[in-house]
Amino acid sequence: MMERRFSRQVNCGGVLIGGDAPVSIQSMLNTDPHNFDTSKEQIDTLVNAGCEIIRITVPDTKSLETLKLITEYSSVPIVADIHFDYRLALGAIEAGVSKVRINPGNIGSDDRVKAVADAAGAKGIPIRIGVNSGSIEKNILEKYGNTAEALVESALYHVSLLEKFDFKDIVISIKSSDVNKTISAYEQIAKATNYALHLGVTEAGTYTQSAVKSSIALGSLLTRGIGDTIRVSVTGDPAEEIEIAKAILSATGNRKFGPKIVSCPTCGRTKVDLIGVCKEVEKRLAKCTKDIKVAIMGCAVNGPGEARDADIGLAGGTEEFLLFSKGEIIRKIPASRAVEELIEEIDKL
Ligand code: SF4
Repeated sequence: MMERRFSRQVNCGGVLIGGDAPVSIQSMLNTDPHNFDTSKEQIDTLVNAGCEIIRITVPDTKSLETLKLITEYSSVPIVADIHFDYRLALGAIEAGVSKVRINPGNIGSDDRVKAVADAAGAKGIPIRIGVNSGSIEKNILEKYGNTAEALVESALYHVSLLEKFDFKDIVISIKSSDVNKTISAYEQIAKATNYALHLGVTEAGTYTQSAVKSSIALGSLLTRGIGDTIRVSVTGDPAEEIEIAKAILSATGNRKFGPKIVSCPTCGRTKVDLIGVCKEVEKRLAKCTKDIKVAIMGCAVNGPGEARDADIGLAGGTEEFLLFSKGEIIRKIPASRAVEELIEEIDKL
């Protein structure tokens, strides 16, 4: 990973975004914003999965009541997603949110922008400007077309409205559903400002589509040091977003989430149930926080090399495995005992 781009750090309810803070993981509730019980349940699922910041839409005054209960309940910071109505932003700040996502250009007069900036400033709450390809201002679209440049121009316009009132605790996102446009837009905004960047591909699709698009877009930016917090959007269970986000951050070297598992795809040489062993090991290590590399390989061709290179490893034979620890073969084990004995050895590390 290249050196991290310098960004101005903000504090989102105790989770720092930008500067040298770890790149944080966000998601968004897809429950009814008026229903505390279902929202609470989804917050638990997301937090258990490893989500660090949770956003919720605030569509009307009634939802502010639920929002208050949510901010009191949640162990991670809550972000209010507001469109157009500055009074909802003020209400959300009052309800205890840790960040507001709002585009100041959409809320009307300067007085309203100032009211939101002042209220957020008084509580030390950052504001995220979230531009996406579907929400670019007409005059900017006419000038640039629906391009990366238009996204950047629109974000800078919203930024200028907050800066006018001396508000600088800003995070910016400029998302497109197109991978190349997303990358180009973030590259440009990264050069144009030093505000923290929230990365994401919008409307990324279902699990596989989103995993691929997000990995390419977010991964290529993160490997170049661009990005301070990420949201992977999946049409599906929000907990899947966390799984993909963690895999991206771990692959780019930004974060470590426990053991890194290296496994081969299996082939005609495989004479053990390698896929079953891998799935079980992955499950058993889900809560393990050790910073180790575990290799699970199918045969004697590439197996011993990878297994030796890992902290702990298995190399398959015929219905048996060679168990490696710190580069040494420690014993042969029957395939049926592979998971048990591997986990026992990991516990000793
Ligand atoms: S490590 Fe062995 S079993 Fe696994 S894919 Fe390579 S050759 Fe096949």
